[in-house]
Amino acid sequence: MDFSELRTVVEEVELVDGHAHNIVPLDSTFPFIRAFTGASGDALTFSPHSLSFKRNLKDIAELYGCESTLQGVEEYRRVNGIQSICSTCFKSARISTILIDDGFELDKKHYIEWHKNFSPLVGRILRVERVAEQILDEGLPDGSSWTLDSFIEVFVSKLKLLNINVTAAGEIYGFKSIAAYYSGLEINTNVTKNDAEEGLTQVLASGKPVCVANKNLVDYIFLQSLEIAQFYDLPVQIHTGFGDKGLDMRLSNPLHLRAVLEDKRYSKCRFVLLHASYPFSREASYLASNKTVFLQVYLDFGLAIPKLSVHGMISSVKELLELAPLNKVMFSTDGYAFPETFYLGAKKSREVIFSVMRDACIDGDLSIPEAVEVVHDMFARNALHFYKLSSANNDVSLSNNLPQKLNINSLVTNEL
Ligand SMILES: [Zn+2]
Repeated sequence: MDFSELRTVVEEVELVDGHAHNIVPLDSTFPFIRAFTGASGDALTFSPHSLSFKRNLKDIAELYGCESTLQGVEEYRRVNGIQSICSTCFKSARISTILIDDGFELDKKHYIEWHKNFSPLVGRILRVERVAEQILDEGLPDGSSWTLDSFIEVFVSKLKLLNINVTAAGEIYGFKSIAAYYSGLEINTNVTKNDAEEGLTQVLASGKPVCVANKNLVDYIFLQSLEIAQFYDLPVQIHTGFGDKGLDMRLSNPLHLRAVLEDKRYSKCRFVLLHASYPFSREASYLASNKTVFLQVYLDFGLAIPKLSVHGMISSVKELLELAPLNKVMFSTDGYAFPETFYLGAKKSREVIFSVMRDACIDGDLSIPEAVEVVHDMFARNALHFYKLSSANNDVSLSNNLPQKLNINSLVTNEL
């Protein structure tokens, strides 16, 4: 079989990155070693000995033409500066659109608008738990204490207010929930107001900065957000599978979402399960498949690529495709803090998808022309459709490189 056309398409397609985070300047306290690992503290001692760490470091050193050590790459970054390394990384990554969840707190992070220097279209994803925490941190104008009603009133109006701007300026393309980090994905769809009120009291008693990590409150916020997302037909990204320290991975299995997915009140809500749900990729595939009634479940393989070994990346994408429709599976970089993470996400995704598609052709699952279509779908078209970027994306391509004017106003910086 001749895979040259498939290879060319995979290498040349412009990418739509549906899930990423802000980049930080060189003097941020967020250490560069975190580009290669989610570990922190003492665990960092072991990180350099993982397959993905060694491979990703080598790839960056090769891109920069510098010594293949962490010190070598850090020296290159210092000498060249953030603008230059961003240009190098994004030029090679060829990403036409980035959706940024700016609820991931990073020291000195650049505003969303700043990223338009490197990608023509940049949009925002609202992390709902972070919105809640910022509201509770700010307090009520008259200094009185929060009740569930007063909090939810502000929370809902904040999400709605932002969504009025969606229509006007096309800024916000979806919500994101990290319920998996706080109390897991087994959302209680019958959580009562009383339970949530108790949760709120407990959370506030722990002082500031507020962390909403109380299951009843997290579940309540999650369900409120679904109602708004559904009303505005905005998709909801859900953290599933592996993540940073503090995550109880047993509870990030997406099968726990069954009650939410079966609840008629949210039947029109569109979900995307992030991170290939690794290691629950087969479970995610099942949820997105035609074997279930969950038509509204989509899949995203960011983070699994590039944070796993080559075998891990290929096998988890293959597992996603065991049952799921090909038009429900999407690329993202899950890039954060460092432009190198965007570069690695793009580069490794191209390599992995080529390998997976080539094998699908050899196995007889796909013809080469079908595989070519799948490449366009996974890298761009599925996300354009899912996040309704199609109209915003008109004329936005790296070839004409004209930054699309997005009306980022004060509401969409860090003020939430
Ligand atoms: Zn992420």
